[in-house]
Amino acid sequence: MRSPRASLRLGVAVAAILAFTGGATLAVTGAQAAAPGCRVDYRVTNQWSGGFGTDITVTNLGDPLNGWTLTWTYGAGQRVTQAWNATVTQSGGQVTATNVGHNSALGTGAATSFGFNGSWSGSNPAPTSFALNGVTCTGAPVTPAPTTPAPTTPAPSPTTPPPTSGWNPPANLVNPLNQVWQHVEQTYNNGNLYGFRNYGWDQVMANRGYLNFCVRWDSSATVTAAQRDQIHTTLARQYKKWMDVMVGHNAWPYQQVPIKVVGWAVRNRSQLQWTDTSVDIYVNNIRENAPQCAPECGRFFNQGGQYPNCPGGVARHYDQSLWLTDGFGGGAGGDWGQRMGREYYMNNLNAENMHILLHEIGHTFGLDDFYDWTPSGVGGFLMRAGSASSITTFDAWMFRDWWRHLKSRYGY
Ligand SMILES: [Zn+2]
Repeated sequence: MRSPRASLRLGVAVAAILAFTGGATLAVTGAQAAAPGCRVDYRVTNQWSGGFGTDITVTNLGDPLNGWTLTWTYGAGQRVTQAWNATVTQSGGQVTATNVGHNSALGTGAATSFGFNGSWSGSNPAPTSFALNGVTCTGAPVTPAPTTPAPTTPAPSPTTPPPTSGWNPPANLVNPLNQVWQHVEQTYNNGNLYGFRNYGWDQVMANRGYLNFCVRWDSSATVTAAQRDQIHTTLARQYKKWMDVMVGHNAWPYQQVPIKVVGWAVRNRSQLQWTDTSVDIYVNNIRENAPQCAPECGRFFNQGGQYPNCPGGVARHYDQSLWLTDGFGGGAGGDWGQRMGREYYMNNLNAENMHILLHEIGHTFGLDDFYDWTPSGVGGFLMRAGSASSITTFDAWMFRDWWRHLKSRYGY
């Protein structure tokens, strides 16, 4: 069942994480606010033989900018090959990255990010200096101290680059995919599919690659800490099945999309049999006759991506709710999250494919139901309820088709 209802720009630098050996991280801290200044977090997200991917976060510590250019020099022959969320040019070792339309404004303290794939050989050292609109981002480079000894043998690198395939569905699916897309364009949001800005895609891209959840425990049952953790693990494992469809496809920028449960909503605190503070707990905050996490922290209620009245701020916001209701048959899904029976979820924690959850996640990312028509030439598939219990090739290509049509919205 589809239950439709109705950009987060993180202001903090992302902690550096290296996916593969050979990457480098550099944080250049700028001057105090009021003076021109900037901070750049240069992160190699992925590296393989001959190639690498980056994510660069620029924080403006000076006066507001309308239009920005970031420059740096590569000293080891690296070449930028494909960029997103910025226009990147290169002359010799000199690299120039300029904003695109949607991220031209950079207020004091604001951050934006862009990324690119590049090539390298021999070594791939991070740049030692950056300049924003010609002003050097001052401060000494900070090299994080390793907390564990460096490995004595390099971690294995992939021998082949991740696939970067574009839009190339199997020939027999081209026509049905076109039928589906025409149908959703005509029927969604009164014919204005592109006017809606809270698809799951918008949420992942606003967060730059993760999703936060609230569990709405619409039940009289108690929950142990072990069950809480299992509920999270199951959600993450099922979600990954959809996100893996995108890895390496058509400039999709993430190798993984972490799923984090940040909040639990219950009628009575005593139902939750843990005392640790790993999740925020919301007691007896009732909407739709069910417990909810605070709307002030919810993406559905704050689609501008700011959470000024959320006690934990952006870090504790939630994008979607996993809504588990005693005795609920079937499921519902939308931009707000997924709903199904509490008993169904708890009885299928270890199922390879929890097909109702998978189907409802499909809705969160825009996929439609097929109650009244079927695209020609395709058999059973997950989004045609009751005809398949796992993500099929056709489901996967419908999913990718959403990215194909929305990605320009994010500068891809
Ligand atoms: Zn449905």
